[in-house]
Amino acid sequence: MFDTVIQGGTIYAPNNTFVGDIGIVGDTIGDIKEGGGLKGDKIIDATGKCVFPGFIDPHVHIHLPFMGTNAIDDHESATKAALVGGTTTIIEMICPGPDDEPANAFNEWKTLAEEGCCCDFTFHLAVVRFDALAQKQLRELVAEEGVQSFKIFLAYKGALDISDDDLLELMKMCKELGVTLTAHCENAEAVDSMQRKFLAEGKNGPEWHEPSRPRSVEADGVNHLCSFAELTGATIYIVHTSCGIAVDRAIEASGRGVDVTVEAVAPHLVLDKSYAERDDFEGAKFVMSPPLRDEVEHDALWRSLASGAVSTIGTDHAPFNFHGQKDMGREAFTLIPNGIPSIQERVDLVHTYGVCTGNIEMQTMVDACSTNVAKQFNMYPRKGAIQVGSDADIVVYDANFVGTFKHVDGLSKVDYSGFEGMERKGRSDVVLLRGKVVAEQGVFTGECAGGKYIPRK
Ligand SMILES: [Zn+2]
Repeated sequence: MFDTVIQGGTIYAPNNTFVGDIGIVGDTIGDIKEGGGLKGDKIIDATGKCVFPGFIDPHVHIHLPFMGTNAIDDHESATKAALVGGTTTIIEMICPGPDDEPANAFNEWKTLAEEGCCCDFTFHLAVVRFDALAQKQLRELVAEEGVQSFKIFLAYKGALDISDDDLLELMKMCKELGVTLTAHCENAEAVDSMQRKFLAEGKNGPEWHEPSRPRSVEADGVNHLCSFAELTGATIYIVHTSCGIAVDRAIEASGRGVDVTVEAVAPHLVLDKSYAERDDFEGAKFVMSPPLRDEVEHDALWRSLASGAVSTIGTDHAPFNFHGQKDMGREAFTLIPNGIPSIQERVDLVHTYGVCTGNIEMQTMVDACSTNVAKQFNMYPRKGAIQVGSDADIVVYDANFVGTFKHVDGLSKVDYSGFEGMERKGRSDVVLLRGKVVAEQGVFTGECAGGKYIPRK
């Protein structure tokens, strides 16, 4: 007798899809039976539905100080949004300032997350300084706190970028410690130069954000990081890749033996740069970096997902209100806080515009939004798999649900939706976190602050 049985759904187990039952004991999966027949105290009927491993978002910002303000979500609102959208684990970026000590930053973020997270969580730690003290603390965080991934920015000149000297030394450390280096790849000097040029010409609206950081700037950043990975042997992970030529640089490096993984994020897969060109400053809602591109890049990214050249899908959730926060950039697009929130919509966007259109297979969606993330960041098979012994993080998914994306359905605190009115196919019907039902049909039913930190090895 199991505590809970999920009955009669189409189960996406590793390497195998079949109709059957899942038996849950406590926090974990106790048995999986093709054809069904398991008995439990509580039955969840999944007939006609898909049963997926809980989704994992590899790229989330919640606590994000920026220009005297902070991203508008707290851990509670962001993770409630995540859970109703089927995401049971997030990897948040710890983004300290250049004067902050890494250990203090880790403790600050972890404390906030423990107080508020409703889903499970772990972190990428941004490295924005690399002096002797920082190096010592980074080593300690890896050894003692289960940190397994760092983040660097090639993009923000004078603010968050580190020198090439430091980058090489950091990558040697990553290689030595077996840590994955995640990276925002855009050439900072080129972006800075283009921004100053446009502003001097009076081109200050959000529509100039994309031209100030075109595809070539991103491809150059990817190439730079790949070159250093080739020199050092470090494992690298390119976050939020927006265009085909940037993916191509990673494919070439991979062919030379570089251990490189490429991430896409939901906004780049479904929105194009015409959104950022909308009148009356409306385009500011659609400013993120790298920017939204021409529609042709959607095809390039979906093809890359289908081929495996891009292997994960995150969100880069970074919620700033249109009124009062994006507003800070009315005089200059360079001052618009970056972000197009999608922590709740990610899986349904990928299902609607990836799977239902035939761009990718259902299994590819499961791999990119869950399994591959767990493998890349050392949480597999505790997370990212429906198999005996794994955490019972499970999504019963109604692939036949039809609706539209609406801001009013959102649990994030942000005051707009970048996907308002877009067609939606699919919805997470029942979401379980470690065996407990935490969301049903778009409503959060779980326990506040019920999330756990997932240390990694
Ligand atoms: Zn980000």
